[in-house]
Amino acid sequence: MAYQISDDCIACGSCAAGCPVGAISEGDGKYVIDADACIDCGSCQGACPVGAPQPQ
Ligand code: SF4
Ligand code: SF4
Repeated sequence: MAYQISDDCIACGSCAAGCPVGAISEGDGKYVIDADACIDCGSCQGACPVGAPQPQ
């Protein structure tokens, strides 16, 4: 299990700043989560203004 960022992402960067394991990086037009690093804490979902990170 890991979170994934949907295409709703507006690339604001808030989620990456709060990820405790540094699993989020800027991708091509949106931010992306490294599924192998994500510990499923849900912090990114709470930080996101558009609800883009979702548990998969
Ligand atoms: Fe990082 Fe937690 Fe989001 Fe996973 S769920 S990407 S560990 S903030
Ligand atoms: Fe994208 Fe939401 Fe992360 Fe901002 S907080 S970069 S909108 S996923």
